[in-house]
Amino acid sequence: MRTLLPLPNATLTRPVIFAVVLAMSAGCAAEGDQNLSLDSRLPDDAPEASVIQLASLDEYGLDVSDSRVTEGAVKWNQTFSDLLSALDVPYPNIHALVQNADSIFDLRDLRAGKRYRVYRKQDSTSTPVALVYEHSSVDYVVFDLVEPFSVEHASRPVTVRTRRVTGQIESSLYETLVGSDVDPTLAVALSEVFAWQIDFFRIQKGDSFNVVFDERAVGERKIGVGDIHAAYFKHAGRDYYAFHYAPEGDLAYFDEDGRSLRKAFLRAPVRYSRISSRYSPRRFHPVLKRNRAHLGTDYAAPRGTPIRATGDGVVEAASYTRGNGRYVKIRHNGTYSTGYLHMSRIANGMRPGVSVRQGDIIGYVGSTGLATGNHVCYRFWKNGRQVDPLKEDFPSVEPLGGEALANYMSVRDSFMQRLHGYDYALAP
Ligand SMILES: [Zn+2]
Repeated sequence: MRTLLPLPNATLTRPVIFAVVLAMSAGCAAEGDQNLSLDSRLPDDAPEASVIQLASLDEYGLDVSDSRVTEGAVKWNQTFSDLLSALDVPYPNIHALVQNADSIFDLRDLRAGKRYRVYRKQDSTSTPVALVYEHSSVDYVVFDLVEPFSVEHASRPVTVRTRRVTGQIESSLYETLVGSDVDPTLAVALSEVFAWQIDFFRIQKGDSFNVVFDERAVGERKIGVGDIHAAYFKHAGRDYYAFHYAPEGDLAYFDEDGRSLRKAFLRAPVRYSRISSRYSPRRFHPVLKRNRAHLGTDYAAPRGTPIRATGDGVVEAASYTRGNGRYVKIRHNGTYSTGYLHMSRIANGMRPGVSVRQGDIIGYVGSTGLATGNHVCYRFWKNGRQVDPLKEDFPSVEPLGGEALANYMSVRDSFMQRLHGYDYALAP
């Protein structure tokens, strides 16, 4: 791969006669401090007397041939000004840098623990001439600490490689992935793909998986996981498949028969109701008479109206508190839970551990707890945080049919082979 590193203007190279670096024959990734070999050419009108010095560029494209380079990490509560003051950069220069950074990089984004690199001229002892702040494994910012105090935001090129990984669980999925040199966030991505099929807290020894996914890298350094294209999981003796297919730009996963892996939630837990109060991070509470977040959606309905589970799941709580009144909470999978508050009565048989199906009656509308009138306050948790279900963008759950199904099957077949690594066909 041919890597062109950005060559920031007016940095360090100024006193040196520019070797105009037109192209770099760098087959190597710009990692570490090694000097890169450069294919440089001189401008046609280069003055004869000039001593041409080949620039040695580091991974940020800065000339380090005549520099002293040191590294550090941003300290807790250290601001950009603090950092530069500590490096003896005069205040007017800091001011100019802050101004120039304005539209380029938000200096409040400086984070404790992030690395930076400081460049000084070899022959000078103190004043630095440039600073590179490593904002992320991809992005960095180059600050020119001398006139004209330019600030430049640059990115390293990211490559995406599709990779297949297979594994057998010995202790945990996380450790299995780390052992296969895979970013363990793939475990999170897999748990989201199979959220409705597999409880990832119950993954056990002997379960196995094959995954075809995108891996992102900067040079040779892996920086994360992209899309999962296809996945196979053998869990508790059962086979689960997921194939990524985007019929209308909708990111969605389907199983080997073209059924969506997602299951829809019912829009509301009560029929024939109206929303009397929407989810809002702040509202005036009619009973407490003060501003308080309302992390639920209220559906007003006559007392005794049946309340239904909006999705399949397991009862986590069926209880009473002063605020909630009689309430039921259901855990649907590793990602989603729902709660139903202020019931006049909890349905018979509701207790922790009991499985419920979507549409099952779990209780009846009332006004127990902190409630002014008969309603159900419907709460929705995603990964342990309350969210507004009416604003959640759930992928389509329609089964594929017709032409889409035919297209899907050919996608499925090609990924089925990549997934299993040989000519593989499902038994008819
Ligand atoms: Zn409410």
